[in-house]
Amino acid sequence: MLTFEEARGKVIKQVGKKRGPRATAVVSVWEALGLVLEQAVKTDREYPPFDRSTRDGYAVRSNEAVPGEQVKCVGEIKAGDTVREALAAGTCLQIMTGAAVPAGADAVVMIEHTTREGELVRFERGAQPGQNIVPKGSEAASAQTILTPGMRLGYAELALAAQVGALRLQCAQRPRVAILSTGDEVVLIDETPGPFQIRNSNSVSLAAQVRIAGGEPVVLGNAADRIEDLGEKIERGLKEDALVLSGGVSMGKYDLVESVLKAMGAEFFFDAVAIRPGKPAVFGMCQGKPVFGLPGNPVSTMVTFELFVAPAIDLLNGAEARALPLVEARLAEALKEKPGLTHFLPARVEWRGRVPEVKALRWQGSGDIAALAKANCFLVVPEDRESIEIGESVSVLLRKDVV
Ligand code: AMP
Ligand code: MG
Repeated sequence: MLTFEEARGKVIKQVGKKRGPRATAVVSVWEALGLVLEQAVKTDREYPPFDRSTRDGYAVRSNEAVPGEQVKCVGEIKAGDTVREALAAGTCLQIMTGAAVPAGADAVVMIEHTTREGELVRFERGAQPGQNIVPKGSEAASAQTILTPGMRLGYAELALAAQVGALRLQCAQRPRVAILSTGDEVVLIDETPGPFQIRNSNSVSLAAQVRIAGGEPVVLGNAADRIEDLGEKIERGLKEDALVLSGGVSMGKYDLVESVLKAMGAEFFFDAVAIRPGKPAVFGMCQGKPVFGLPGNPVSTMVTFELFVAPAIDLLNGAEARALPLVEARLAEALKEKPGLTHFLPARVEWRGRVPEVKALRWQGSGDIAALAKANCFLVVPEDRESIEIGESVSVLLRKDVV
């Protein structure tokens, strides 16, 4: 059986082969958060566009700012002021953060290191050439490429685009990810379940996870555990860029997803992974589209989505597959698990001290959504560890929607 890293590797390899030209759209900088850029963005001028003061203080010739000596202040420069005249020898100018440093001046002395008596400024410290000045063009040259195709647009990237006036950006369209749950016991969330039925909560968690991963969810509802109904709805799902199914991949008599997919021509790259929850997870390509059969227990569905589907959505967006958000933490309470599978336990990590501390939460197994709603991470118990002592270092997979 594959480890989760190996299974992830298979997804990345197979979906990676599908990278190529994809649908794009021109999107306003206000609307592009989380999208993947499909163009290069260049600067419209040098940055900074002038020698910029990074402090409130006095623009000086550095050799004239002698500790204990006084220099005459002949004016002030505010941020945004047009600066044409050079600083005359033997004088200084009061200057504000973000203002242009005049020619002739080669340093800014912080106001905190001066005392003012009328027109005269006394310096408490000497000045180094260049101090508190960001030189023109030192952040970027003119017409320099600052954003490249494949970059994900976060708040800093969007600010950079705005800074250079690139207000409309060519971006990859979010891949459309069909979501299909299965199970005779599953009813739509706005229906009232009978005593032995359950609401389709997986359609809601999967839609949220697709969105967070950068895809556009297309919720197709629920298929009964019957070959014909499954076949029809899978056919519909394969019209989208990827298909994610929940349920119907275990060993039960009515777990038909894999056989229906196979009959439709799917090639499978795994149909089991050495993890708990989530062991029966299936990944294949069917009619050119990546298809994921995730086990239906809600926590299994959530974990296997993060491990296997999220990197596929990155690749379908034209970006690199992001690494799993794994961090090291100190175990706050000893634990025991059956060896042989890598466990992902709902847990809470807290950043109180120098080292993050993590504690597994009590839970009733992979149907226990309430436990996961209290968790902010999964504690990863390696397959070869039967018990882990308090204080040991463990890996945690962060829930990136809440941390
Ligand atoms: P399965 O993977 O089909 O064997 O389902 C495993 C468990 O998950 C069963 O207890 C199902 O009732 C439950 N389950 C399956 N699909 C869903 C769903 N869409 N929403 C919530 N729970 C589900
Ligand atoms: Mg089922």
